[in-house]
Amino acid sequence: MRDPRNPGLYLGGRWSDRTDRLPVDDPATGERIGSVPAATGDDVDAAVGAARGAFDGWSAADPAERAAVLDRFADAMTARETELAHTVTAEMGAPRDFSLRVQVRLAVDVLRAQAALARTFPFEEAIPDGPPARVVREAAGVVAAITPWNYPLYQIAAKVGPALAAGCPVVLKPSGVAPLNAFLLAACADDAGLPPGLLSVVSGSGRVVGEALAAHPGVDMVSFTGSTGAGQHVMRTAAGTVKRVALELGGKSAAVALPDADLAAAVEATVASAFTNTGQTCTALTRLLVPAARYDEAVAAAVRAGGRYTVGDPAQPGDHLGPCASAAQRDTVVDYIRLGVKEGARVVVGGPETPDGLPAGLAGGHWVRPTVLAGAEAGMRVVREEIFGPVLCLLPYEDEEAALRLANDSDFGLSGAVWSQDPDRAAAFARRMRTGRVEINGGAFNLNAPTGGYKQSGLGRELGRWGLEEFCETKTLQGVR
Ligand code: NAD
Repeated sequence: MRDPRNPGLYLGGRWSDRTDRLPVDDPATGERIGSVPAATGDDVDAAVGAARGAFDGWSAADPAERAAVLDRFADAMTARETELAHTVTAEMGAPRDFSLRVQVRLAVDVLRAQAALARTFPFEEAIPDGPPARVVREAAGVVAAITPWNYPLYQIAAKVGPALAAGCPVVLKPSGVAPLNAFLLAACADDAGLPPGLLSVVSGSGRVVGEALAAHPGVDMVSFTGSTGAGQHVMRTAAGTVKRVALELGGKSAAVALPDADLAAAVEATVASAFTNTGQTCTALTRLLVPAARYDEAVAAAVRAGGRYTVGDPAQPGDHLGPCASAAQRDTVVDYIRLGVKEGARVVVGGPETPDGLPAGLAGGHWVRPTVLAGAEAGMRVVREEIFGPVLCLLPYEDEEAALRLANDSDFGLSGAVWSQDPDRAAAFARRMRTGRVEINGGAFNLNAPTGGYKQSGLGRELGRWGLEEFCETKTLQGVR
């Protein structure tokens, strides 16, 4: 790669310059920092052709060999981790410490975890009962990975890691908002000596490149992470060739403080979840449900917890929040805060105004105030719709059954949380929540466990062995054990 800020396409292991380019901006300043090629249908054909060329050899390779390549890939990422973190910071605004710790290292950890899994995964098993039969899990084929901008590298790793572990070559279409890190990842693949065609990167719009991939007869599976609307589109497009489709979509996840909860801890953790990455987290807990009898106590705790967050220059070290990743995203968030007020909610932290105290050089950035809305009610749009910014809604409930109804009263079902002094009571409540993941008393994220959505939050699961299985076809061999 000649210029990491203005890369060419990465097709079948080769860099290929293009003159038709799309801008990439720094959301902290609004200034142009680079560009990526606008790939065409021919480029998509070339990438898919290279992937098909790599498929036979890679899918037939010993899983331990695939694991070794994945480990080398992870090593190559670690060698460039500072460059990767700076790139993510520059194009989507996550502060540098968070970029390194979460945006980059989590991605590396996913590759390593999938390499380890490839060594132990039951790609074959005998059926113990009935006539002799053996089940073989084979690579699903050529995978198109279509990814968003909020945890751009991690979301790519959550597809590329298990796909390569399962034996599938990948054609990646990164988000237009934060595409540069995907090309740096391709440089890491180059450094690690990945066989040509195993990973190609084609940048461009969803309408052109994303749809071409979803429709392509040479693609066997499309794994998409992004908004529910675009996911529906991908599913419809993929239907033309009956592709396998995996979807990781939006959320509006509820944290429930049961009546006996440590309310201060519940509020603090929920505010952190809602604000982390400037609220641009699909699994963010953006609805906090508290007992009506303890509502004022919860609001006071939210004011204390929320007031501690500051926004600031993402290029500087520290645990402040960065800007929204784009002007469009900032406008959406500010509009939602105004809408919430119009609907009758009360701003107790933050608000729609631009934050004060930013240095002059950041005046052109896409800043919002981390915001808590009290007095929120079930029917409000700010309670029902994904905002994808640092906005937490606080809702009161009368009793545990009402809390469960409120928590489940959503088109989404991606994540959730329950707080109680009694972990069994919390776990019993969590089992009744219609959602793919529930944090109990702040239980930590485990990247060997599956993540994914109920309802309109998606189809299929990522991470752990469930993530690897998504990229496998299942075949029965009758007559052998
Ligand atoms: P988006 O849907 O706008 O874009 C995601 C990707 O899809 C991009 O690469 C985009 O170019 C592409 N795309 C858009 N339209 C397409 C089409 N018609 N056909 C094919 N591809 C198309 O989402 P975004 O704004 O980049 O990301 C934010 C959204 O992603 C939020 O809704 C968030 O909840 C969701 N998200 C979900 C998860 C999860 O794991 N469930 C993780 C992160 C983000």
